[in-house]
Amino acid sequence: MQPFRYVRADSTDHAVAAITGDDARFIAGGTTLVDLMRLDVMKPTALVDITGLALTAIEETGGGLKLGALATNTDVAYHPLVTKRFPALSEALLSGASAQLRNMATVGGNLLQRTRCPYFRDGVSACNKRKPGSGCAAQGGFTRSHAVLGTSPACIASHPSDMCVALVALDAIVHTHGPKGDRAIPIAELHTLPGDHPEIESVLAPGELVTHVELPASAMAARSRYTKVRDRASFAFALASAAVALDITGGKIMDARVALGGVATKPWRAKAAEAALIGKPATLDSFQRAAQVAFEDARPQADNAFKLELGRRTLVRALQRGAS
Ligand code: SF4
Repeated sequence: MQPFRYVRADSTDHAVAAITGDDARFIAGGTTLVDLMRLDVMKPTALVDITGLALTAIEETGGGLKLGALATNTDVAYHPLVTKRFPALSEALLSGASAQLRNMATVGGNLLQRTRCPYFRDGVSACNKRKPGSGCAAQGGFTRSHAVLGTSPACIASHPSDMCVALVALDAIVHTHGPKGDRAIPIAELHTLPGDHPEIESVLAPGELVTHVELPASAMAARSRYTKVRDRASFAFALASAAVALDITGGKIMDARVALGGVATKPWRAKAAEAALIGKPATLDSFQRAAQVAFEDARPQADNAFKLELGRRTLVRALQRGAS
């Protein structure tokens, strides 16, 4: 591991000011960053420790919730207002990682966790995300875990987070504090597509610190669901997942939110699937048609074409659970 400078921040302003170069990083739970530093995939020159900041609270805001960036995944998953009002978020968090990791991992870190693409993590393969311009070893390589939506010739890595998929379906808003002040970013706009620059993964500027996530009040969020399919039940990243929230009145779908995970390069808002659902009866036929639409633009690789059918079936299952 490369030596680094260590700064313990005592305020959000101090934390932001301490990020003085492109290779300086915030650290909280460290469940992604320390892993990647040990592998020499990430080599920050400075770590700004934010664990002492007062950002752990989970607070009610009207009918919504405010999740501090340092609230652990465990604390959020088991919070009674999360399980009651935003069950998809609780289900997503409990389906992610192991209990030990959930106890360390934070909301802010989960938002920014990095891909599990094996070529990114091995530290030696050509990888545009790790070393811009070096190529993409996954193209023509083993692609079982890779994305089928939102890919580019430069990168086909899937986004690993379960939490973010639920947050997209719940219309969460990410709040930040940075060198230019505060801003609020709709979660669907936080992550960027790889395009020609897969090394850029979000719209956050250097030194911009996530302070909290806002979950807006929503009646249909209380009926939200997260369904995940993975290789083993104990802990594994999603091969396909879906978060849904449905407003159903008299058997008719009045409104819908649909997000997909494990199949896309970013937490994927499936707007075409939502449009296919709204106004339709809450039936298996409607769910299957929406699932078909959700994957119309998919571009599978040699080893992951199975994700189209798996993704459709996962979405149908999530919609059935959301409607029950
Ligand atoms: Fe790197 Fe993306 Fe290619 Fe994986 S898919 S090797 S992360 S550029």
